[in-house]
Amino acid sequence: MAKHRGPSTVAEPRRVRAAQRRWAAALLCGATACQTTDRPKALDAGPAAGDDAGALDSAAGEAGPDPVLRGPLSLAWPVAEPSAFGSVIGVDHDPEVQPDTPLGRLTCADHHDRAFPHCYDEHGGTDIILTGGFSAMDAGSQPVIAAADGVVIATEDGHYDRCHASAETGSVDCDGHPMIANHVILEHEAEDGTAWTTRYWHLKQGSVAVAIGEAVSAGHTLGLVGSSGFSSMPHLHFQLEDPSGQVVDPFAGPRSQPETFWCSPPEGEAPPGPCEG
Ligand SMILES: [Zn+2]
Repeated sequence: MAKHRGPSTVAEPRRVRAAQRRWAAALLCGATACQTTDRPKALDAGPAAGDDAGALDSAAGEAGPDPVLRGPLSLAWPVAEPSAFGSVIGVDHDPEVQPDTPLGRLTCADHHDRAFPHCYDEHGGTDIILTGGFSAMDAGSQPVIAAADGVVIATEDGHYDRCHASAETGSVDCDGHPMIANHVILEHEAEDGTAWTTRYWHLKQGSVAVAIGEAVSAGHTLGLVGSSGFSSMPHLHFQLEDPSGQVVDPFAGPRSQPETFWCSPPEGEAPPGPCEG
């Protein structure tokens, strides 16, 4: 559901882009009423049904809390009002590229080894879905905020922001407009001096509130949630990349890495929290 990379407005990791094209219909099913008839029953369960999200990320075992292992960069949850969002769809850690079938699209493993709707095949970021969809977007939407102190290294704005899933094509439809995501990319200096990036995709048209070269603090508003680019519904695609450009899942877990990148790792069903100070 995302466009991931600069420098152009449409570039992103090729394998992710291809997978996303194949994937839009199934994703729509994950967060709204599904219009297809061949989806697995599991799609009706909803993203939070019966799981224990964050148990590993909080590093609290049965024997008592262990020290939380941390990555070289600490991030805040990148939306200002977490309660305005519902589903979270994470990074796929299943290395297999699945066949382009309904089952293949659902075959994935998130940081916690959970399948769809916690992830989808080859997803390279964290999707944070705006509750209420386009109605909520039209009512003012929600701010997207910087996950850490950093510098703006890329922005894109001005593109159509009502792209949506198409039942006819099984893909995303931007109503004849170019499928280009409004976005912001930040660069951050990690504790070890290396440069990491965070990417914020699908922003609302005209909402980008920062300029290239601008220094921002964690929590600074970057724009508003929209549905520009390859996006089937209003949501934020948030993506962390290491200095070599590899996608890193900020969530700790048995399928990602032991270190969390969240300042306040999630507890139970709650999303990660803000950074203090
Ligand atoms: Zn995404």
